[in-house]
Amino acid sequence: MTQMTKHNSDVPATDTVGEQAQPVVQLRNVVKRFRRADGSVANAIDGVSIDVMPGEFLVLLGPSGCGKTTLLRTIAGLELADEGEIDVHGTTVLSVPRKIELPPEKRHLSMIFQSYALWPHLTVFDNVAYPLRSRGRRLPKSEIAAKVNRVLDLVGVENLGGQYPGQMSGGQQQRVALARALVDGGNLVLFDEPLSNVDAKVRETLRRELLEMQRTLGFAAVYVTHDQNEAMELAHRVAVMGGGKVRQLGPPADIYSHPVDRYVANFIGTTNEIPATVRAIDGNRVEIDTPAGQALGVAADTHLTPGDAVIACFRPEYGQVQNAEKAANNVWSGIVERVLFLGQTSETIMRLGGTDQYLRLTSLGEPEHGEGDEITITIPEHRLRIMRAEGEKAQ
Ligand code: ADP
Ligand code: MG
Repeated sequence: MTQMTKHNSDVPATDTVGEQAQPVVQLRNVVKRFRRADGSVANAIDGVSIDVMPGEFLVLLGPSGCGKTTLLRTIAGLELADEGEIDVHGTTVLSVPRKIELPPEKRHLSMIFQSYALWPHLTVFDNVAYPLRSRGRRLPKSEIAAKVNRVLDLVGVENLGGQYPGQMSGGQQQRVALARALVDGGNLVLFDEPLSNVDAKVRETLRRELLEMQRTLGFAAVYVTHDQNEAMELAHRVAVMGGGKVRQLGPPADIYSHPVDRYVANFIGTTNEIPATVRAIDGNRVEIDTPAGQALGVAADTHLTPGDAVIACFRPEYGQVQNAEKAANNVWSGIVERVLFLGQTSETIMRLGGTDQYLRLTSLGEPEHGEGDEITITIPEHRLRIMRAEGEKAQ
């Protein structure tokens, strides 16, 4: 955890002088539509604008079908967007209004797919040399050898040049795939769920290794996943996607603690939702009526007005069980329906008094209450996020 925090704070988004560095990838209002077999139109990408900075690990996170792969393929030049512009390393590689479209091999980036797609019949050396030989260039043998050996050394598999992929562990294959992606010096790697085909234990190890290598080598990464743990661990910034749009873009901690709507709040982690109505607003401080009394929270949406139907959201770990007298605001009572002791933590399911609303609370160790007890909880005001009720939930 400490290590992760350290990594995540290393965001190389701006240089030290405070001047904005040039983005490695700049997406401006990219739109991509597909015509389905039945004639209807899918808005796979619906107006996406993102800057990826040098050395940044950007994760595109969202449920299946939200447009992650399409966006990645559009950056790579494997799909042609219907609208918008894309710059890579400061060069416009796509502009619909200006009719510019560079082919994939001219975009100076590499893509790593689900399986690493290493050629089984080629040695590690030949796999890594492949991009240097396949682009119609005739590089001298000695230059190819120098480039390949340099990246094999960089990713720590300098002794495996003569081996075949089938003889290597998952971690070694990942290193080789990365070496192949970096050999041509683009310094930008696009990943489409590269770890989704391996089992959970191996996946965790490979994820750590990838994190270490990216932070050490400093290439920029755009990484697609539907796995929120993967996103939280790897990303400098996460773009949460839904329905072809970026719903929220920010560092993992910000996305987790300050979700902007119900979609993001429910897609990242677990959240409790209490239906409520806005009573009053003072800055971003919102007073609400809930079925179990009044409460104070922080507005996630800047356009709320009194009378609006809202949802008060809070994470299970921020519901503190304690004496009602200790807190003036945000005090709710209810009956414990279930306690699940999980070792390090416990989960309490509580039914909010006078409602059929269930809340989930997480606490460290074993709780003092049991099933059937009446308990009182408080939620710190800044942990209660008030968001518009009509926003749909992520699945
Ligand atoms: P994700 O990678 O997030 O699972 P995709 O980018 O693969 O999502 O797909 C986004 C949307 O675009 C989905 O509704 C999908 O059905 C549609 N789509 C993707 N590729 C095509 C295609 N070649 N033809 C028609 N529809 C497509
Ligand atoms: Mg996909």
